[in-house]
Amino acid sequence: MEDYREVTGDETKGTGKKESKGSPAGEKKDDYEQICFICRRPESKAGRMYNLPNHINICEDCMHRTMDAVSQYDYNNLLNNPQLMNELNKNGLGGFPMMGMGQDAAGIPNSQRVKKKKEKESDIQPVFDIKNIPAPHHIKERLDDYVVGQEQAKKIISVAVYNHYKRVKTGTMDDIEIEKSNILMLGPTGSGKTYLVRTLARLLDVPLAVADATSLTEAGYIGDDIESVVSKLLAAAGNDIERTEQGIIFIDEIDKIAKKKNVNSRDVSGESVQQGMLKLLEGADIEVPVGASSKNAMVPMTTVNTRNILFICGGAFPDLEDVVKQRLNLETAIGFNSMLKDENDDDKNILSKATVEDLRKYGMIPEFLGRLPIICALSALDKEMLIRILKEPKNAILKQYQKLLALDEVDLRFDDSALEAIADKALEKDTGARALRAIIEEFMLDIMYEIPKDDNIGRVTITGDYIRGKGGPVIEIRGEQLPKITAKVQGAPS
Ligand code: ADP
Repeated sequence: MEDYREVTGDETKGTGKKESKGSPAGEKKDDYEQICFICRRPESKAGRMYNLPNHINICEDCMHRTMDAVSQYDYNNLLNNPQLMNELNKNGLGGFPMMGMGQDAAGIPNSQRVKKKKEKESDIQPVFDIKNIPAPHHIKERLDDYVVGQEQAKKIISVAVYNHYKRVKTGTMDDIEIEKSNILMLGPTGSGKTYLVRTLARLLDVPLAVADATSLTEAGYIGDDIESVVSKLLAAAGNDIERTEQGIIFIDEIDKIAKKKNVNSRDVSGESVQQGMLKLLEGADIEVPVGASSKNAMVPMTTVNTRNILFICGGAFPDLEDVVKQRLNLETAIGFNSMLKDENDDDKNILSKATVEDLRKYGMIPEFLGRLPIICALSALDKEMLIRILKEPKNAILKQYQKLLALDEVDLRFDDSALEAIADKALEKDTGARALRAIIEEFMLDIMYEIPKDDNIGRVTITGDYIRGKGGPVIEIRGEQLPKITAKVQGAPS
């Protein structure tokens, strides 16, 4: 009981100058009476109070009754035994906050509880067992179902994941000190970095935490501290530590924590975050709060070992191309093939030629790069890739709309010119495949609004002209074998 501050009569009723710690500034303690949390009597009736954390006051009577009752039970047993808890509650101690911990849920009215969320079903079903990881070519085959192109990146990742989980399973990580297959992914915005990692995690059925490097700062500064990424993973694993320790952490925008050039002030969100991540990447015991993102006295803590967690860092590295080109051009200048210089300048996938040395020049510290031994580059998406992304993946966006309209028994089609027009528009936006959904949603809104109005419509064909705003979609009436009837959908752009 020494921890609790006993409020004596002198303190509360004394000079009247002393302010209560928890009371708003300016309010004098003697203006207000404390009320017992259990019996609800004010201190004028119940006598002196014990001050517990979170501004909970308990009168002497209730405190003694609680302690007497509790001392009759074995604590550990008590907390694990809802029946004993119920008995305690029946004895009039239900109001005590500690007593609620093991309370039988049936005793609490539903109005005071939150209904559990049903687990969201993913459209990507797990197909692998990490305890029996299949060969890399099988992993890549599955990735092919969802991720279009990016062949080299998929190959590198399949091998890395295979090696990683094989080592986890056989426990050989101890012999090979930091030889984890942590991955550094380079690629422009919207090229599918996050998507590739998400798909992989779902196929493997491992928890995934996605964090943004820009929000991370060294512990003690404003922002999330670096270890918060492990808390996120723990939450994604439903607080299951074993699953957490085999999960994947994806840290995006890693290029934004490159060492800043020519700064005199302390670089709290750049180089020091890289430094702070070293032990995490390598493998360490990290104390993380359970069920919260920040550490504080009220949340329980647990220890997660990051040795078997696969870290994937991704970034667009916008100016890295220049660094690579400069190096390559220098190499060609020393050599004798000046033709190569132009080739380097035009190479769209120059990032795939980036080396550790280039990344170091960019501002990543050598120790950090040393802990991400696998580098893979995703190429910028061209028109042909964008068209394939629209229609090929198992969960392709066009297939999703087709399925939606099929529920209304309408056959939705996109002709080739429509696909080209969508891809052209996306290319203009320069945000890779990310623009596709926005463009499609814009024109599909009218279709989804107008078509269900008329039960006779059996088929809708989206054309390039419609996307470019030069005409309407082709509408065919149900059951008609006759020539197509072209009608303008009301509200469609003209
Ligand atoms: P990044 O993380 O590289 O900025 P994202 O992974 O967020 O890009 O990609 C945005 C969206 O584009 C994804 O949700 C996905 O639907 C789509 N996408 C991007 N690249 C591909 C690809 N190669 N295959 C299939 N879909 C892709």
